[in-house]
Amino acid sequence: MNDHNPVVSIQGVTKVFNEGGADRVLAISDVELEVYPGEFLTLIGPSGCGKSTLLRLIGDLIAPTSGGVHINGKRSKQARIDRDYGMVFQDATLYDWRTVNKNVQLPLEVMGYSRDEREKRTVKMLRLVQLEEFANHYPWQLSGGMQQRVAIARALAFEPAILLMDEPFGALDEMTRERMQLELLNIWGQTSTTVLFVTHSIPEAVFLSSRVVVMSARPGRIRTIIDIDLPRPRGFKTREDPHFFDSLTEVRECLRAGESGKSQVEGYK
Ligand code: ADP
Ligand code: MG
Repeated sequence: MNDHNPVVSIQGVTKVFNEGGADRVLAISDVELEVYPGEFLTLIGPSGCGKSTLLRLIGDLIAPTSGGVHINGKRSKQARIDRDYGMVFQDATLYDWRTVNKNVQLPLEVMGYSRDEREKRTVKMLRLVQLEEFANHYPWQLSGGMQQRVAIARALAFEPAILLMDEPFGALDEMTRERMQLELLNIWGQTSTTVLFVTHSIPEAVFLSSRVVVMSARPGRIRTIIDIDLPRPRGFKTREDPHFFDSLTEVRECLRAGESGKSQVEGYK
Protein backbone atom coordinates (compact mmCIF):
# COMPACT_ATOMS: atom_id res chain seq x y z
CA MET A 1 0.00 0.00 0.00
CA ASN A 2 1.13 3.51 -0.78
CA ASP A 3 2.30 5.18 2.43
CA HIS A 4 0.55 8.35 1.42
CA ASN A 5 -2.88 6.75 1.38
CA PRO A 6 -4.44 6.87 4.84
CA VAL A 7 -5.93 3.63 6.17
CA VAL A 8 -8.41 5.67 8.18
CA SER A 9 -9.71 9.02 7.05
CA ILE A 10 -12.17 10.98 9.18
CA GLN A 11 -13.59 14.14 7.63
CA GLY A 12 -15.57 16.68 9.63
CA VAL A 13 -17.23 14.07 11.82
CA THR A 14 -19.81 15.11 14.40
CA LYS A 15 -21.83 12.73 16.55
CA VAL A 16 -24.97 13.73 18.43
CA PHE A 17 -26.73 11.17 20.61
CA ASN A 18 -30.48 11.44 21.25
CA GLU A 19 -30.96 14.22 18.72
CA GLY A 20 -34.22 16.07 19.37
CA GLY A 21 -34.53 14.76 22.93
CA ALA A 22 -34.05 16.54 26.25
CA ASP A 23 -31.03 14.32 26.80
CA ARG A 24 -29.30 15.35 23.55
CA VAL A 25 -25.51 14.93 23.78
CA LEU A 26 -23.02 16.46 21.39
CA ALA A 27 -20.37 13.78 21.89
CA ILE A 28 -17.77 14.78 19.29
CA SER A 29 -17.62 17.77 17.05
CA ASP A 30 -15.92 18.38 13.73
CA VAL A 31 -13.18 15.78 14.01
CA GLU A 32 -10.60 15.50 11.23
CA LEU A 33 -8.02 12.72 11.39
CA GLU A 34 -5.93 10.61 9.06
CA VAL A 35 -4.17 7.45 10.15
CA TYR A 36 -1.42 5.98 7.98
CA PRO A 37 -0.40 2.36 7.35
CA GLY A 38 1.57 0.77 10.15
CA GLU A 39 1.01 3.60 12.63
CA PHE A 40 0.37 3.08 16.30
CA LEU A 41 -1.99 5.92 17.05
CA THR A 42 -3.49 6.58 20.47
CA LEU A 43 -6.49 8.70 21.44
CA ILE A 44 -6.25 10.22 24.90
CA GLY A 45 -8.53 12.63 26.74
CA PRO A 46 -10.67 13.05 29.85
CA SER A 47 -13.45 10.59 30.58
CA GLY A 48 -16.54 11.29 28.46
CA CYS A 49 -14.66 13.24 25.77
CA GLY A 50 -15.73 10.89 23.01
CA LYS A 51 -12.78 8.48 22.60
CA SER A 52 -14.98 5.37 22.50
CA THR A 53 -17.48 7.19 20.29
CA LEU A 54 -14.74 7.95 17.77
CA LEU A 55 -13.50 4.35 17.80
CA ARG A 56 -17.06 3.02 17.42
CA LEU A 57 -17.62 5.34 14.47
CA ILE A 58 -14.49 3.98 12.82
CA GLY A 59 -15.65 0.41 13.52
CA ASP A 60 -19.12 1.23 12.12
CA LEU A 61 -20.80 0.23 15.38
CA ILE A 62 -22.52 3.63 15.24
CA ALA A 63 -23.07 6.10 12.39
CA PRO A 64 -21.88 9.73 12.32
CA THR A 65 -24.49 12.50 12.51
CA SER A 66 -22.49 14.33 9.85
CA GLY A 67 -19.16 13.92 8.12
CA GLY A 68 -17.48 10.88 6.60
CA VAL A 69 -15.41 7.92 7.78
CA HIS A 70 -13.36 6.01 5.22
CA ILE A 71 -11.28 2.90 5.79
CA ASN A 72 -8.82 1.90 3.08
CA GLY A 73 -10.70 4.27 0.78
CA LYS A 74 -14.05 2.55 1.48
CA ARG A 75 -17.03 3.58 3.57
CA SER A 76 -16.75 2.23 7.12
CA LYS A 77 -19.77 -0.04 6.60
CA GLN A 78 -18.10 -1.76 3.65
CA ALA A 79 -14.87 -2.05 5.62
CA ARG A 80 -16.77 -3.80 8.41
CA ILE A 81 -18.31 -6.23 5.93
CA ASP A 82 -14.84 -6.83 4.44
CA ARG A 83 -13.42 -7.37 7.95
CA ASP A 84 -10.77 -4.69 7.56
CA TYR A 85 -10.49 -4.37 11.32
CA GLY A 86 -10.47 -6.38 14.50
CA MET A 87 -11.61 -4.99 17.84
CA VAL A 88 -10.50 -5.45 21.44
CA PHE A 89 -12.36 -3.89 24.36
CA GLN A 90 -11.58 -3.40 28.04
CA ASP A 91 -13.49 -6.55 28.90
CA ALA A 92 -12.12 -9.53 26.97
CA THR A 93 -15.69 -10.77 26.15
CA LEU A 94 -14.69 -14.39 25.64
CA TYR A 95 -17.22 -17.22 25.61
CA ASP A 96 -16.80 -19.19 28.83
CA TRP A 97 -18.10 -22.44 27.36
CA ARG A 98 -15.60 -22.41 24.50
CA THR A 99 -11.95 -23.30 24.92
CA VAL A 100 -9.27 -20.71 24.13
CA ASN A 101 -8.75 -22.44 20.80
CA LYS A 102 -12.48 -22.28 19.97
CA ASN A 103 -12.73 -18.65 21.04
CA VAL A 104 -9.97 -17.62 18.64
CA GLN A 105 -11.59 -19.68 15.88
CA LEU A 106 -15.03 -18.13 16.27
CA PRO A 107 -14.70 -15.22 13.81
CA LEU A 108 -12.96 -17.55 11.36
CA GLU A 109 -15.92 -19.96 11.57
CA VAL A 110 -18.33 -17.09 10.96
CA MET A 111 -16.27 -16.07 7.96
CA GLY A 112 -16.36 -19.61 6.55
CA TYR A 113 -12.68 -20.52 6.76
CA SER A 114 -11.93 -24.23 6.34
CA ARG A 115 -11.09 -26.28 9.42
CA ASP A 116 -7.46 -26.59 8.29
CA GLU A 117 -7.06 -22.87 7.77
CA ARG A 118 -8.73 -22.15 11.14
CA GLU A 119 -6.39 -24.51 12.95
CA LYS A 120 -3.34 -23.09 11.20
CA ARG A 121 -4.19 -19.48 12.01
CA THR A 122 -5.16 -20.23 15.58
CA VAL A 123 -1.88 -22.01 16.30
CA LYS A 124 0.02 -19.07 14.79
CA MET A 125 -1.88 -16.44 16.80
CA LEU A 126 -1.70 -18.35 20.09
CA ARG A 127 2.05 -18.64 19.55
CA LEU A 128 2.24 -14.89 18.95
CA VAL A 129 0.54 -14.15 22.29
CA GLN A 130 2.45 -17.00 23.98
CA LEU A 131 -0.56 -19.06 24.96
CA GLU A 132 -0.02 -22.21 22.89
CA GLU A 133 -0.11 -24.44 25.96
CA PHE A 134 -3.46 -23.00 26.98
CA ALA A 135 -5.31 -23.79 23.75
CA ASN A 136 -7.57 -26.33 25.46
CA HIS A 137 -8.19 -24.34 28.63
CA TYR A 138 -11.39 -22.42 29.26
CA PRO A 139 -11.34 -18.63 29.74
CA TRP A 140 -12.28 -18.90 33.42
CA GLN A 141 -9.11 -20.92 34.00
CA LEU A 142 -6.95 -17.98 32.88
CA SER A 143 -5.84 -14.72 34.52
CA GLY A 144 -7.20 -11.37 33.31
CA GLY A 145 -4.03 -10.66 31.35
CA MET A 146 -4.16 -14.05 29.65
CA GLN A 147 -7.82 -13.55 28.72
CA GLN A 148 -6.94 -10.22 27.19
CA ARG A 149 -4.19 -11.92 25.15
CA VAL A 150 -6.77 -14.42 23.87
CA ALA A 151 -8.97 -11.48 22.83
CA ILE A 152 -6.01 -9.95 20.97
CA ALA A 153 -5.25 -13.30 19.28
CA ARG A 154 -8.90 -13.57 18.23
CA ALA A 155 -8.89 -10.04 16.80
CA LEU A 156 -5.68 -10.73 14.88
CA ALA A 157 -6.64 -14.20 13.62
CA PHE A 158 -8.24 -12.96 10.42
CA GLU A 159 -5.28 -10.64 9.83
CA PRO A 160 -7.14 -7.34 9.85
CA ALA A 161 -5.46 -4.28 8.40
CA ILE A 162 -6.51 -2.30 11.48
CA LEU A 163 -6.78 -3.18 15.13
CA LEU A 164 -9.18 -1.01 17.18
CA MET A 165 -8.45 -1.23 20.91
CA ASP A 166 -10.60 0.55 23.51
CA GLU A 167 -8.77 0.65 26.86
CA PRO A 168 -7.87 -3.03 26.47
CA PHE A 169 -5.59 -3.04 29.53
CA GLY A 170 -7.74 -0.79 31.72
CA ALA A 171 -8.80 -3.56 34.08
CA LEU A 172 -5.31 -5.03 34.62
CA ASP A 173 -2.90 -4.43 37.48
CA GLU A 174 0.09 -2.18 36.79
CA MET A 175 2.70 -4.93 36.32
CA THR A 176 0.52 -7.03 34.02
CA ARG A 177 -0.39 -3.91 32.11
CA GLU A 178 3.26 -3.02 31.42
CA ARG A 179 3.94 -6.57 30.26
CA MET A 180 0.90 -6.50 27.98
CA GLN A 181 2.07 -3.21 26.48
CA LEU A 182 5.41 -4.81 25.62
CA GLU A 183 3.70 -7.85 24.13
CA LEU A 184 1.40 -5.70 22.07
CA LEU A 185 4.38 -3.78 20.66
CA ASN A 186 6.03 -7.11 19.84
CA ILE A 187 2.96 -8.32 18.00
CA TRP A 188 2.57 -5.00 16.21
CA GLY A 189 6.26 -5.22 15.18
CA GLN A 190 5.67 -8.69 13.70
CA THR A 191 2.53 -7.81 11.75
CA SER A 192 1.76 -4.93 9.42
CA THR A 193 -1.34 -3.99 11.41
CA THR A 194 -2.23 -0.35 12.01
CA VAL A 195 -3.31 0.13 15.62
CA LEU A 196 -5.83 2.67 16.92
CA PHE A 197 -5.67 2.58 20.69
CA VAL A 198 -7.72 4.38 23.35
CA THR A 199 -6.47 5.04 26.87
CA HIS A 200 -6.65 7.64 29.59
CA SER A 201 -3.19 6.72 30.87
CA ILE A 202 -0.52 9.20 29.79
CA PRO A 203 2.46 6.78 30.26
CA GLU A 204 0.63 4.07 28.34
CA ALA A 205 -0.07 6.45 25.44
CA VAL A 206 3.53 7.67 25.27
CA PHE A 207 5.12 4.24 25.66
CA LEU A 208 3.12 2.64 22.86
CA SER A 209 2.49 5.26 20.25
CA SER A 210 3.99 6.80 17.16
CA ARG A 211 1.43 9.62 17.53
CA VAL A 212 -0.82 10.66 20.39
CA VAL A 213 -4.07 12.45 19.59
CA VAL A 214 -5.05 14.65 22.53
CA MET A 215 -8.80 15.29 22.77
CA SER A 216 -10.53 18.07 24.68
CA ALA A 217 -13.41 17.63 27.11
CA ARG A 218 -16.94 17.44 25.74
CA PRO A 219 -17.75 18.05 23.03
CA GLY A 220 -14.74 16.02 22.03
CA ARG A 221 -12.46 17.75 19.58
CA ILE A 222 -8.90 17.03 18.59
CA ARG A 223 -6.70 19.53 20.43
CA THR A 224 -3.26 18.50 19.21
CA ILE A 225 -1.46 15.55 17.71
CA ILE A 226 1.91 14.85 19.33
CA ASP A 227 4.64 12.84 17.58
CA ILE A 228 6.42 10.41 19.88
CA ASP A 229 9.89 9.94 18.42
CA LEU A 230 11.26 7.53 21.03
CA PRO A 231 13.43 4.85 19.41
CA ARG A 232 12.07 1.37 18.72
CA PRO A 233 12.05 -1.37 19.74
CA ARG A 234 10.78 0.08 23.01
CA GLY A 235 11.32 -1.75 26.27
CA PHE A 236 12.02 -1.30 29.96
CA LYS A 237 14.78 1.21 29.20
CA THR A 238 12.30 3.40 27.32
CA ARG A 239 10.55 4.29 30.56
CA GLU A 240 13.86 5.60 31.94
CA ASP A 241 14.73 7.65 28.86
CA PRO A 242 14.68 11.45 29.57
CA HIS A 243 12.79 11.88 26.27
CA PHE A 244 10.08 9.61 27.66
CA PHE A 245 9.56 12.10 30.51
CA ASP A 246 9.64 15.03 28.06
CA SER A 247 6.83 13.39 26.07
CA LEU A 248 4.83 12.66 29.25
CA THR A 249 5.07 16.33 30.17
CA GLU A 250 4.09 17.44 26.69
CA VAL A 251 0.95 15.26 26.67
CA ARG A 252 0.04 16.20 30.26
CA GLU A 253 0.37 19.93 29.60
CA CYS A 254 -1.70 19.62 26.49
CA LEU A 255 -4.47 17.82 28.42
CA ARG A 256 -4.35 20.49 31.14
CA ALA A 257 -4.48 23.33 28.63
CA GLY A 258 -7.62 21.72 27.22
CA GLU A 259 -9.29 22.07 30.58
CA SER A 260 -8.52 25.69 31.38
CA GLY A 261 -11.72 27.65 31.34
CA LYS A 262 -13.60 24.39 31.89
CA SER A 263 -14.12 22.51 35.10
CA GLN A 264 -11.06 22.78 37.32
CA VAL A 265 -12.36 19.87 39.36
CA GLU A 266 -11.95 17.16 36.75
CA GLY A 267 -8.22 17.88 36.44
CA TYR A 268 -5.68 15.40 35.09
CA LYS A 269 -3.28 14.14 37.70
P1 ADP B 1 -14.99 8.31 26.47
O1 ADP B 1 -14.80 7.00 25.82
O2 ADP B 1 -14.00 9.35 26.04
O3 ADP B 1 -15.03 8.22 27.98
P2 ADP B 1 -17.60 8.22 25.20
O4 ADP B 1 -17.27 8.23 23.78
O5 ADP B 1 -17.99 6.93 25.81
O6 ADP B 1 -16.42 8.91 26.04
O7 ADP B 1 -18.82 9.23 25.46
C1 ADP B 1 -18.83 10.57 24.99
C2 ADP B 1 -20.13 11.23 25.43
O8 ADP B 1 -21.22 10.67 24.70
C3 ADP B 1 -20.45 11.02 26.90
O9 ADP B 1 -21.07 12.18 27.40
C4 ADP B 1 -21.43 9.88 26.89
O10 ADP B 1 -22.30 9.94 27.98
C5 ADP B 1 -22.17 10.10 25.58
N1 ADP B 1 -22.63 8.84 24.99
C6 ADP B 1 -21.86 7.81 24.56
N2 ADP B 1 -22.60 6.82 24.03
C7 ADP B 1 -23.90 7.23 24.15
C8 ADP B 1 -25.16 6.65 23.79
N3 ADP B 1 -25.22 5.45 23.19
N4 ADP B 1 -26.26 7.37 24.05
C9 ADP B 1 -26.21 8.57 24.64
N5 ADP B 1 -25.07 9.18 25.00
C10 ADP B 1 -23.91 8.53 24.76
MG1 MG C 1 -14.55 5.06 26.58
